[in-house]
Order: sequence, then C-alpha cells, then structure tokens
Amino acid sequence: MKNAVVLGVNPPVYDFTFYDLWAKPAGLLFLLDYLRRRGNTVMLTDCVFEGRTGALSFGRDSIKRREIPKPPPFSAIPRRYYRFGLDEEEFIKTLSPLPSPDYILVTSMMTYWYEGVFSSIKTLRQVFPGAKIVLGGIYARLCPEHAAMSGADMIQTEPLDLDFCQPAFDLYRGLRYGVLITSFGCPFSCEYCASSALEPVFRKRPTVLVRSDAESQLASGGVRDLAFYDDALLIDREKGLYPLLSQLKPQDIRFHTPNGLHVREIDEECAAVLKKSGFKTIRLSFESSDAEMQHRSSDKVSAEEYRASLEALKGAGFTESSLETYVLAGVPGQTTESVELSIRFVKDLGGVPRIAEYSPVPGTISFEAAAALLPGLVDEPLLCNKTVFSPYLSRIMTHG
Ligand code: SF4
Repeated sequence: MKNAVVLGVNPPVYDFTFYDLWAKPAGLLFLLDYLRRRGNTVMLTDCVFEGRTGALSFGRDSIKRREIPKPPPFSAIPRRYYRFGLDEEEFIKTLSPLPSPDYILVTSMMTYWYEGVFSSIKTLRQVFPGAKIVLGGIYARLCPEHAAMSGADMIQTEPLDLDFCQPAFDLYRGLRYGVLITSFGCPFSCEYCASSALEPVFRKRPTVLVRSDAESQLASGGVRDLAFYDDALLIDREKGLYPLLSQLKPQDIRFHTPNGLHVREIDEECAAVLKKSGFKTIRLSFESSDAEMQHRSSDKVSAEEYRASLEALKGAGFTESSLETYVLAGVPGQTTESVELSIRFVKDLGGVPRIAEYSPVPGTISFEAAAALLPGLVDEPLLCNKTVFSPYLSRIMTHG
C-alpha cells in the first residue's frame, strides 16, 4: 500500500469502569508509523484521549463518561454502565474536517469492549462511506469470528512484523505521558494470560530504537512521564533496560510500570537502579501466596522471593505507596479464602495489595475452565468483563 490516506481510530470504551493507567493504542501507533514510512499519509483519532476532561497525577487524564443503557447480558448487574471517551456527536465532529481516508484502521483491546468498536465502525461508515475499514487489535485477534460481525471490511488476525518501527506518538497533540516498549511477548506462560498467544516469541527491541522513542516523545514538550508496556521488562535487563536507563539518565523523567514486574528479578542492585533512574510507580506481579495458584502462574515467584524483592525495593528508598502488588482474584478453581490469605500475606510484609480481577481470555487454559462454568462466554465476549465475571456471573468470588 502506497500513497494512500490512512486514518487510525481508537474507539471509545464501553464498561462499568475505566481508568487511564497510561493506556495508549501502541499496536495501532506502530502500524501507522510503518505505513507512513512507506509513503502513506496517516492520521489518528483516539476517542479515549480526545475525551479527556482533566489532568491526573503523572501525566494521566480523567476521561469523560456518559451513562448508557446496559446491554441485555448485564441487565441484572446492579452497576452503572458507561461510554468512556468522545460521545457519538463529538466523534462525528472530530472526523468531519479530516480528509477522506482510503483506509481506516480500527484497533481493539479488551474482548468485552467490542461494543465501542462496533459503534465506531458504524459511525465511520456514515462519515466516510467510501473508505475500506480494517479491524485489528487484541479483540480482533482473539475473537475473529465474533469480530466478523463488526461491520469491518477486513479483520486483521495475523501478528504483524513491526519490530523495527516506532510508535507514531507525534500524531497526538497535547500528550502528557509517553509509552515505551523494550520487548514483545513474555517467556512465561501463565494459564490465564494471552501474552504467548498474541506474541508467540519473546524478543527484545534494539535499545537504540527504544531510546529514540523516548527522545521523540519527550521532545513534544509536555511529556515528563513514561510508562513501560513490557510484559517482561526485567528479563535480560543488562542488555536492554539498564543501557537504556543510563542513556536517558540526565533527563528528568518519571517512569511507571503499569504491567506488573517479575518479582524474582528484583534484587538489591535492580531496586537501586530503578530508584536512581526515576521509577515512581512500581507494580509487582505476585498473584497469590497459594502454591497451586503460583504453579498456574508459571511458578514465576515464590512467597520468599516476594519478601526479598519487597525488602530490596524498600531498602532502595521506595515508599509503600509507590509499590503496589497485584493479587489475582476470580480465576476458576481459586477460592475466596485463598485470595484473602494472599492479601493478608502481602499486607503483613508491608506491601500494598491491588486486586487484579480475573477476566477470561479466549485461547487460554483458564478460559476453558471459565467456559465450563459459564458456557455463554464462548459466544458472548461481554460475559468476560472483569467487573462481572467473578463476583456476579460465575460467582467464583462470592461468599456462600
Ligand atoms: S508473566 Fe505476566 S505476561 Fe507473562 S504469561 Fe504470566 S501473566 Fe502473562
């Protein structure tokens, strides 16, 4: 494809809750960079970013929300349901002045956010009837048959080789944080995670590219915070992360790790490097103190290793509030007691537990077990919503 006009679209989110945890459509931005390098004109409409209403800490934004009727599968759920980001009128207003695109690339993230995707495609068809619409992203890859009902002309299901591209963050105006990716995939294979299905081979990006990503995002002027999107940031850190941090050191940057870090990798040296380099928000992937759950989590961390890493991080000067620990809740087979014990374990060691609510992800081992409890999951991705699956639908995390 050459000399085409291409519009990338990040749809609004339909959900009970949504928080900007440094969330940007990185895959779409890599693809737009790839297409631009090949002589195409690229544009971006990010309905979530454009719906920002105010500044939060560390560059994040609060996102406008409008209550909408719950879809039928959620009719009995006693929670309010929202559209986060631009509403339809604002979306049309944002699109109208743009040159007519030849292609529109719509991205997707959580499988249970597909309503925002379908709604965007409908709007895009009205505004740009002549454009070819391609749907890609995580939902499209994990649920291609369901995505075929989206109204898109084509569903992108194969992984793209974009390793040597750079995310086109310059398409944003008014960005206050950036995103870095030093590697794709993860060497582990936890039974509830789709990382290996989406990125079968764990591979590092050249440090020179990651540094260039950082520098171009910082050069935009308003960016002081950078969030790492890696699933395995600390693996091979001597070859990737450490050289990067030492090259970026003279700048006043605050780093964040919204994806949990592999706890086993954090020794005293690592904790000191993170502290010295300006890491402000650290999330630790602990998941559970229960040996069986640890096994289902690739045995990536033991209770003793968690204890040691927490000590190392505190010894390096991190405060408790900057160190949150992910405790997984709601995986089929997990009990409420097991989650309570894990929370207590983390607290007793001076950690701050943060519950990671389980959401069934198609293609994983846990999805099969979840579908055995709730067969409707197979055809209706909405039922995988993390807010409802464990407490309301499967009742895995309900007492009594
Ligand atoms: S370690 Fe994290 S990213 Fe890797 S497979 Fe397990 S849950 Fe997924």
